[in-house]
Amino acid sequence: MTENRIFLDHLAGVLDGIRHEGLWKVEREIEGAQGSWIAVGGRRMLNLCANNYLGLADDPRLIAAAERAMASHGYGMASVRFICGTQDIHRALERRLAEYLGQEEAILFAACFDANGAVFEPLLGPEDAVVSDSLNHASIIDGIRLSKARRYRYANGDLSDLEAQLRKARDEGARFVLVATDGVFSMDGSLAPLAGIRALADRYGALLMVDDCHATGFVGPQGRGTPARAGVQADILTGTLGKALGGALGGYVAASRPVIDLLRQRARPYLFSNALPPAVVGAGLAALEIAEAAEDLRAALAENAGYWRAGLERLGFRLLPGEHPIVPVMLGDAVLAQRMAAALGERGVHVAGFFFPVVPRGQARIRTQMNARLTREDLDFALSAFADAGRELGVI
Ligand SMILES: *Cc1c(COP(=O)(O)O)cnc(C)c1O
Repeated sequence: MTENRIFLDHLAGVLDGIRHEGLWKVEREIEGAQGSWIAVGGRRMLNLCANNYLGLADDPRLIAAAERAMASHGYGMASVRFICGTQDIHRALERRLAEYLGQEEAILFAACFDANGAVFEPLLGPEDAVVSDSLNHASIIDGIRLSKARRYRYANGDLSDLEAQLRKARDEGARFVLVATDGVFSMDGSLAPLAGIRALADRYGALLMVDDCHATGFVGPQGRGTPARAGVQADILTGTLGKALGGALGGYVAASRPVIDLLRQRARPYLFSNALPPAVVGAGLAALEIAEAAEDLRAALAENAGYWRAGLERLGFRLLPGEHPIVPVMLGDAVLAQRMAAALGERGVHVAGFFFPVVPRGQARIRTQMNARLTREDLDFALSAFADAGRELGVI
């Protein structure tokens, strides 16, 4: 037996364990574009699990903008930004993002996972502290781990625990303190209590960082996000082009100029990874134009979310409360969540079961998500599939 053989046998055992616990994730292949209706295995299915909140993922205006940018600026950059990978459109998108988000400057990353991985380490040292919400996205957790700052964690959205942790960080002599939170918690669809968080941050002389991936483009006035909705200013905002803003890829940090200047000098995922391709940048500019003016799409999205929630509740499903277009249907058991997703699939509705490790054990769910382009007919079709599948599995 070689070492490699022993290692591969060990991995096979780990994989068997994942299967045995009912935690195995299967990827279904979509034949064609992302949208409300997708083709899977030659079959048309209603899709209720994309982060395609404004329905822009297959928007002809974005496809045209991407094609124009490729024609004028080429396909790839073959460079990181600081060597020879910065085009005029990269800077235009950064300025446009900053303006939209009410920040002084912005810096692009390949993804928000990279933006969150990049943002803590250059800004904070071992004398400093990060106070982080317990349900923050994995990329924030990883980003904090990569920094030398001291770590404090508070219970999800719990202002009294946040205050206790802020006091602790202060008592333990931290120089700078940064509170880090998701604007919207992606597994629950709940919003961070930003007005209260900002007030506490101010009282304890702390900075506020908000990751607004599940909000930018559709939450708050003109879709400017959760801080705008709460009427507060975040000191540092991170977000993605991979959800409401077209759904391709790309992340960013928006903040005051010195923050962005230092990230451009020191952020490792910026210095050691390729520049975004022109097609994505050009379409990103077009997506911001569309999103800023999209009152009609935001109204349709809110109306769909309300109709969908009310319909599921009437059927007797257990939901998490809220008004965000993320509507989690709580099932508890991972195997049940998988069976429910399969039963819905048989009825032409594409959803995914979420279970450990993306949510805590025993809190498995189907996370449904609304988009602005779903019609009343689509939602009625989905409600009847949920009713059928839910009764078959004894969930309702
Ligand atoms: C999706 C998401 C990310 C990652 O964004 P990408 O651009 O896909 O890397 C980061 N944070 C939160 C809260 C998210 O929901």
